Parts: sequence; C-alpha cells; structure tokens
Amino acid sequence: MPEGDSVAGHAKELAAVLVGEEIEAVYGTSGSVRTASRRLLGGRVVEVRTRGKNLLIDFDQGWTVWVHLGMTGRWRIGKRIDRPPGDAKLALSTSTSTAVCRKAPTVEVDRTPAIERRLDQLGPDILDQSFDNAEMLRRARLLENGRSISEVILDQRVVAGIGNVYKSEVLYLEKINPRRPAAEVDDEALRSIAQRAIRLMTPNVGRRRSTTGDRGPGRSTWIYGRGGEACRRCGARVMSDQHGGRYTYWCPGCQPA
Ligand SMILES: [Zn+2]
Repeated sequence: MPEGDSVAGHAKELAAVLVGEEIEAVYGTSGSVRTASRRLLGGRVVEVRTRGKNLLIDFDQGWTVWVHLGMTGRWRIGKRIDRPPGDAKLALSTSTSTAVCRKAPTVEVDRTPAIERRLDQLGPDILDQSFDNAEMLRRARLLENGRSISEVILDQRVVAGIGNVYKSEVLYLEKINPRRPAAEVDDEALRSIAQRAIRLMTPNVGRRRSTTGDRGPGRSTWIYGRGGEACRRCGARVMSDQHGGRYTYWCPGCQPA
C-alpha cells in the first residue's frame, strides 16, 4: 500500500525521467487532465516533489499535476510508449520516456498556488528533513477529539505520510496499544512515535519496504500482515482488527491494553 516512503520513491523515479524535459504527449482519462492537457503539452517539468502521500509534478508555466494513489493507484515509469493503456488516469511522455498512472483516485491539474491551497490542511511531512515536532504535537492535541492513537497518527492533518503499515509497526515498536486514547499518550511518547516513523521510513524510500531490516519473504514486518502468527519478541499470538477497510495489528503481550 502506498505510504509516504513509496510515494517519495515514485517522485525520485519520476524526477529522473521528467525534470528538465519537454512533455511531448499528454494523455489521461482524468477530467482535469483532459481539460488541461494542452497547457501541459510542450511544457517542461521543473520539479517532482511530495507532501506526505501526495505527489506533485511542477511545470515551468506555473501548472502542477497533483496525484494521490489512494489504495489502488499505480505508476509505471519506463521507455516511451506511443499508446498508453486506455484506462490511464494520466500519461506524460518525453522524447524517451513515458510515465503512466492508473487507478489513482486523485489526478488533478491546476495552477500551483491553487493546488498548494488544497494541501494546506496537511500536517508536517514525516519525510521532511526539518520535520516540525512541535507542530505535529500541536495538531495532535487539537485534533485528537477522543480518538485512539492509531486513528490520530493516520490523520494526515496531524502528520502527513504515515499509512496503515507504519501505523501498526511504529505502535508495536513503541509498545503502545493502538486503541489507547491519544489523549492518554503524553508528548514525549508522541514525539517518540514520530521519530520512530522517521527512522523506519527514511531508509525505505525507493526500495522494497522493510521495517525489520530483513527484506526476505515474510520477514519484512514486525507485525503488519501477521495476524494469528507468533510475535517475534514474546511469542504471543498477533491480533488484528479491521475498521473501515483498514487493518490494525498488535501484540497483546508487548502492547497491553
Ligand atoms: Zn509480543
């Protein structure tokens, strides 16, 4: 599932083929891409950047393409193809390469400041080198609203970039039960959660995700996707539950209620 680390990896890959290049073909079923395709055509990409799970492709004429992959979106970045798949939400071609985005719920083109305004609500980006802990804490307290810690750290207005996998992994490593009310998690523990997320996610940008340091099959997570299996630390059975299509995993031994 795309989280901040995978989106930052896509941005690196896209930057390598798009930045400084003229866009020679634009295609896409996204309404916004169809409307704006003529504006992008012939433009040059100046930067590919991310804010949390949002990817932004900036053009030299002041236009930006905003992509959020949601649960289903995919990128294919490679040699130029002249006929992109019919269901591509977006396809951008340079003289040598084509980047195709399929099944993403959000692909929008607008003036850069207009896109920025729509991302205004996002909290500090977990992968930003100058991550603002104080701002994350301020937002967590403002927005916790009786919710559990697992809901609050997934809220992109509190901290941008953490998704379902890192939510479970970080809370496990910090020994915090995911159902604990966020109001009962003190500032130091919250800072520690964010620092742990930064340490886990940063090395995974642009590569296959692992939180254990082991990239072998079935060994890349501490707890995510391991419901019913033995905890790697204490041997207790890993628990899981589902809420609105999002799974949470925890160990009753390491993360008591
Ligand atoms: Zn355990």
